[in-house]
Amino acid sequence: MSLEVKYGLPGKVIFCKRCVMSNQKPSSAVEFEHQQHTKKTTINIDAEGICDACRQADAKEQINWQQREEELLKLLDQYRRNDGGYDCLVPGSGGKDSAYQAHVLKYKYGMNPLTVTWPPILYTDYGYQNWKNWIEIGGFDNLSFKPNGKVMKLLTRLSIENLLHPFQTFILGQKNLAPKIAAQMGIGLIFYGENPAEYGNAIADNDTSLKDKAYFCAQNLDDIYLAGLSIKQLQEQHGLTLADLRIFLPATLEQLERTHISVHYLGYYLRWVPQEVYYYAVEHTGFKARPFRTQGTYSKYNSIDDKIDDLHYYTTFIKFGIGRATYDASQEIRNRHISREEGIALVQKFDGEFPDKYFQEVMTYLEMQPEIFMRLCDQARSPHLWQQVNGVWRLRHNVARTGVDD
Ligand SMILES: [Zn+2]
Repeated sequence: MSLEVKYGLPGKVIFCKRCVMSNQKPSSAVEFEHQQHTKKTTINIDAEGICDACRQADAKEQINWQQREEELLKLLDQYRRNDGGYDCLVPGSGGKDSAYQAHVLKYKYGMNPLTVTWPPILYTDYGYQNWKNWIEIGGFDNLSFKPNGKVMKLLTRLSIENLLHPFQTFILGQKNLAPKIAAQMGIGLIFYGENPAEYGNAIADNDTSLKDKAYFCAQNLDDIYLAGLSIKQLQEQHGLTLADLRIFLPATLEQLERTHISVHYLGYYLRWVPQEVYYYAVEHTGFKARPFRTQGTYSKYNSIDDKIDDLHYYTTFIKFGIGRATYDASQEIRNRHISREEGIALVQKFDGEFPDKYFQEVMTYLEMQPEIFMRLCDQARSPHLWQQVNGVWRLRHNVARTGVDD
């Protein structure tokens, strides 16, 4: 008898032989944000048992980085301004990645970036300090855009209720802000850090003209979902107006056509090793890791600015069996910082750890009863991944092969 499979995930759980990722990982952060029940594309594991992200890591070792840097210089020269105007835009929070991006563009390559921040829903002290240090020690102009707090809170709660995805509306708002600001300010070049497409999607052309990218611009409001609801449902059922929602929506085609905006990933041009990026940010922009590890994983410096972040990774563990330690260890195996055996041990120890440090504070902010959240988690567990044994939920399959059905 085959077990029910939620979210259109692959029915048979397979782990990559090189890292610790499973084939249950949705391949595109963007795609699965739209609707709960549409079929998800997940990371591919090939006939030899190796995942796309590991294959991509192999391919990266063949790259001629000197040639890539020359390509970067050519690109920058096309946009470089000498009249004091901003010539590129770097979206970010002042975490290690955006700190590094803005700093090399300005101080190594002589560009004049405008940094743009969509602030966390609930700043951690370290996140706020790192953002300040980025601007004050790093030395950048920054536009920090705080969306309507009442709407943000409602959409975050709805995202949890409908998708068990505490970050969905935050991510969409953040992704959509940069092109709109760039269009408004007449800045033609946007730099993101690493291309998420390199970690399990088809590798999109790195030079993306924005208007070709359907998800960067809104042509039809009926196609857009926020928190798992259509714009019409949000208006009719939750009393929101288009004015409340506009900041979360993509730029319009007309906005984008006025400025010929081009989006690039610095990770395409420069060799991007998270540990090295971290040390660079510490040295140049006063970035500080937290002195304690993040719950659900062993790391201290990845994505530490939002109190909701830990809860977000807890929900990926519930929905896909993939927690934060799996993401972190997979990346470090690919960068050859740890072995697969060490990765497995870290996953065993930390994956799915309940993030109780900020949990009560997050629930209070959302005006949600903790029991409701736990019930939503249990409803979101796909039977093909989970089984309850003596009242405790256990994974049927895990990377250590100690799951209930392994
Ligand atoms: Zn892999």
